[in-house]
Order: sequence, then structure tokens, then C-alpha cells
Amino acid sequence: MRVREAELMATESPDLDYEPATSTTPQTDVAISVRGLRKTYGDHEAVAGVDLDIARGEIFALLGPNGAGKTTTVEILEGYRRRDAGEVSVLGVDPAKADARWKSQIGIVLQGKGGDSELTVAETVRVQASYFADPRPVEEVVGLVGLTEKLKARASSLSGGQQRRLDVALGIVGRPRLLFLDEPTTGFDPEARRQFWELIRQLRALGTTMLLTTHYLDEAEALADRVGVIAAGRIVEVAVPAELGGRHLAPARVRWVEDGRQREETTATPTAVIQELSKHLGGEIPELSVLRPSLEDIYLQMIEEPA
Ligand code: ATP
Repeated sequence: MRVREAELMATESPDLDYEPATSTTPQTDVAISVRGLRKTYGDHEAVAGVDLDIARGEIFALLGPNGAGKTTTVEILEGYRRRDAGEVSVLGVDPAKADARWKSQIGIVLQGKGGDSELTVAETVRVQASYFADPRPVEEVVGLVGLTEKLKARASSLSGGQQRRLDVALGIVGRPRLLFLDEPTTGFDPEARRQFWELIRQLRALGTTMLLTTHYLDEAEALADRVGVIAAGRIVEVAVPAELGGRHLAPARVRWVEDGRQREETTATPTAVIQELSKHLGGEIPELSVLRPSLEDIYLQMIEEPA
């Protein structure tokens, strides 16, 4: 997690000649490509050789314990932090050499960026919009994040979850092609999280590529096309959520009640077991459940014993 004071777009020119696709952006299916990325702080190697490809239009979730190197990696991709080694291409450009045109295509949802401002919600979003040539209309963005009723409220008066929504509004007002979301739903109530997930799906439908860091495994599962687990600065695995750590191949536990007693069988072929049971019990199987390891079970195993 990070809280960053600096405004990404502070150096932007308001009359930027922005076009959705630019000559500096080759027409390729890859939004982000990383090879051999390394970053050392003192004698601590925070990122120790990361390779990663993220496709255009994809939602990619980066998972990992505190201190794993997520923020360092993401900040390098955002052009905020210098790397020590490796090759990085983001929308066809090396972020270390990126210009204002590239920055105008990148959205970043920072923690608490607009929250302590004395401006109203509408004013806060309008200021951010002024850095872009073709921003989304302020009312549209505020509506997208579900803050219409708070348009005229001071940003500093918002609840924690509402402030995070404002952070999202600031990240998307410039119609980014690529959006970075750093632990976006920390502090949200369950309903606000569901609404936020809907917003992310809407942005995906509009073609926005998203790189998300999160500590919520259910969030990764609900949103991400693929997840990457990083531990001690290295990628442990990249997979679709259903297949991470061979989860889809893991044995299932079939549970049922027979003669008033709880029964359980662990099997690689639960369907066959259920069919057999049904035949044996003459139809319905009382209190049947089939349990597979959750994404969280698999993740916790992985970071305990990194490859
Ligand atoms: P979290 O889930 O807690 O946000 P993270 O995966 O984002 O963690 P990073 O913030 O990238 O992890 O940190 C990786 C390692 O690098 C940590 O050991 C951290 O202490 C160290 N580190 C991060 N930033 C700096 C810095 N500016 N100076 C020195 N060390 C740093």
C-alpha cells in the first residue's frame, strides 16, 4: 500500500494533443511487458528478476504478502520509480523515458489523493479533468463511482469508502487506456465493494486494461482474468484464478449424511462419487456438499513455500 502526495499529472499540459492510439504505441496485443526486472534498496533486493506480460483489455491482479515487491514493481511500470535492471514496456513505451502523451493514457488510483481537500467532490474531479484534453464529463465520472449525491460535499467530509471512490474517479477521469489500482477497496463496506467491482467490469467493457494489487482473494477471483503471485521479489506463478496452484486438479472433499452420521470422501472424481452415492442411497443424497480448496487456501500454501 502507498500514499503518494505528488500528483501524477501535475506536469501535464492542459492542452495536450491526446489521441486514444498514438504513433508511439505499436498496435500490439500486449499492454505491459516486463523482462528481468530488478530493484534493490541498499542491500535488499525488493524485485529480484520479474517477468510479466499483461494483454490489452485484461484485468490482472498482483497478489503477494506485505513487502513482496508489488508496489515497487507497479511504481516502476507507472514511471515513478527507476529500475536497476531489466526491460519494461508499457503501452509500447519505456516508462523511464515516457512523455506527457504517454502519461495521459495512464490512470492511477492512489490512496487518499483527494480526500483531505477543502474542495467539493465536483471541484476536485474538475481540477483533475483539466489536465486532460478529452476528459470524461465530471458528472459522468462522479455517477460512475456512485457519488452523485455528494457532488457538492467537501471531499474532506466523505467517509473512508467514499474517499476511495473519489480516488477512483480521479484515476479514470482522463479516459485512461491502462489503469493501475493499488488495493482499491481497502476500507470499503461489502456493498460498496460489490458496486466497485461492477464499476471495474464496466471499465473493462470499455476496453480499459487494469493492473490491480489486492490482499482480498475474493476480489482477485471476482475481477481478474489472471492473477500473478509475487513473493520475496519473484513471481511464483501466473494463472487464471480457477487454475492457480493446480487448484482445478486438487482433490475435492465430498460430504454427506448417511444413517444420521456425517460422512466424507476425498476424491479426484467427485461427480463419479456422487453418482455412485445417489444410486446407493436411492436418489437424493442428504446434506451433500463438495469442497475444493479456495483461492485463499492455495495462495497461503504458495507464499509459505515459494518456488
Ligand atoms: P505491501 O503489500 O505491504 O504494500 P509490497 O508487496 O507492495 O507490500 P513493496 O512496497 O514493493 O512491497 O516493498 C518491497 C520491499 O522493499 C520491502 O521489504 C520494503 O521494505 C522495501 N522498500 C520499499 N520501498 C522502499 C524504499 N523507498 N526504500 C527502502 N526500502 C524500500
